[in-house]
Amino acid sequence: MSDIATRLEAELPGRVLRDPAARAAHSRDTWMLNELRDLEGQPPTPPLAVVEPESTAEVAAVLRACRKSGTPVVTYGGGSGVCGGVETAGREIVLSTRRMSGLVELQPDDLSARFRAGTLGIEAERQVQEAGLTIGHWPQSIELASVGGLVATRSAGQYSTGYGNVEDVVLALEAVLPDGAVLRTRPTPRAAAGPDLRQLLLGSEGILGVVTEVAFSLRPLPEASRGQALHFPGFAEGLEAIRRIVRAGWRPPVVRLYDAPESARHFAEHVPAERHALLLLHEGPKPAVEVERSAVAELARACGGAETDPALVDQWLETRNKVPGFRGFLEKGIVVDTIEVAATWGRIGRIYERAVAALRALPDVLSASAHSSHSYRSGTNLYFTFAARPEDRAAMAASYRACWAAVMQAVDAEGGGIAHHHGIGRVRRDFLADELGEAGVALLRALKRALDPDDLLNPGVLLPDA
Ligand SMILES: Cc1cc2nc3c(=O)[nH]c(=O)nc-3n(C[C@H](O)[C@H](O)[C@H](O)COP(=O)(O)OP(=O)(O)OC[C@H]3O[C@@H](n4cnc5c(N)ncnc54)[C@H](O)[C@@H]3O)c2cc1C
Repeated sequence: MSDIATRLEAELPGRVLRDPAARAAHSRDTWMLNELRDLEGQPPTPPLAVVEPESTAEVAAVLRACRKSGTPVVTYGGGSGVCGGVETAGREIVLSTRRMSGLVELQPDDLSARFRAGTLGIEAERQVQEAGLTIGHWPQSIELASVGGLVATRSAGQYSTGYGNVEDVVLALEAVLPDGAVLRTRPTPRAAAGPDLRQLLLGSEGILGVVTEVAFSLRPLPEASRGQALHFPGFAEGLEAIRRIVRAGWRPPVVRLYDAPESARHFAEHVPAERHALLLLHEGPKPAVEVERSAVAELARACGGAETDPALVDQWLETRNKVPGFRGFLEKGIVVDTIEVAATWGRIGRIYERAVAALRALPDVLSASAHSSHSYRSGTNLYFTFAARPEDRAAMAASYRACWAAVMQAVDAEGGGIAHHHGIGRVRRDFLADELGEAGVALLRALKRALDPDDLLNPGVLLPDA
């Protein structure tokens, strides 16, 4: 056993896991390339040990001990990240937040609830729903992801168009910095006390500290909820309808536009071939829901939308958290992944055309499609899905990288944002300078050096190699 694992075991008895199964289970997240490496019999080398602290003080003790011994620390929440944010190389301690779970405080009058970082998203939502409230943050991985992980990756939920993304519902945070100091932001509705330090942790992917508590700003459960569905002759017409809907001030929580291939894949029963489906869910006080529903329908019809059976929305609601794993595809020699990006309205149409064309031009690509699922006054996101099967199975990883590069280059060329909500991890870090510029990357590097001079927190993630 390594020295650091022995020391942690002495300092935190019962919290250190050293058995091979536990170490292997914490050696990676759900990134497709790591799944492929597993299949090829080349999984990441497990960490030295997994430590499961039970309190903020214990997290601080782990970070201080690891800093003293020069040992890297990889924070592990639910392991549902899809960008390679968790990947070990045999020399780290993995700090799992699993035992730091549960509600700390609920203040219904303030519409706020504070959770320990390892609480799963679904558990946090259940607890506040018991009080008639909701966080309103519904990532597809809500049953897998921890609230600390949602913060660390700047997650987006399926209801984001109405309720915002994780950064809009985080009221306050507690985090342990790399030197063991504890940062607590105050749960005030707004502050002008210098830069917002919550933003340092939102999207920090475990490189600047360990999030230990998350306080959410809540909302009452809606009185009414009603879906509607339409379809459009073109993806551009559907995007234009969404632009006009949000511009007019309507905010259906769910607004999802699928291009024709995805509409055919998911909703063939209710959407004619070559049409592009738009699913909407309206929530709030009953009269407001009805008013929004008819105003939105009118705007959509003006852009060529034709109404179809709202049962489509119920179908989506029932299946929205089910995703086939990568494994079945990989075993057939097919690499599959999704890539989410964002852009202003003026650019998003060109990004769709350019990225899909770039993917389809690659020799191995079997399918390339997209949908938009998170909209804003000034723009929207696109969520591309691709499948590729190289002739030579040994070329699967290269084929996968080529698909990613094609989309990243198309987005960069059209001035879009390279990541809407999955983060950077390892899969995007070499494209980060496209978005932030050299000065932006240098600033992030300087911040990292100031907080973590020995580069011990999650090295290799987010920042490109120097
Ligand atoms: C089927 C599926 C569907 C998904 N759907 C969505 C979706 O709808 N929206 C969305 O945004 N994402 C989605 N994701 C991606 C993933 O669930 C999110 O990135 C999620 O936020 C990761 O949380 P986690 O707790 O699993 O983090 P992990 O995978 O454990 O870690 C992710 C990163 O955050 C760091 N980290 C974790 N916890 C902490 C902490 N407490 N403090 C500091 N750093 C930490 C890790 O070091 C790592 O870099 C999906 C993933 C899957 C597999």
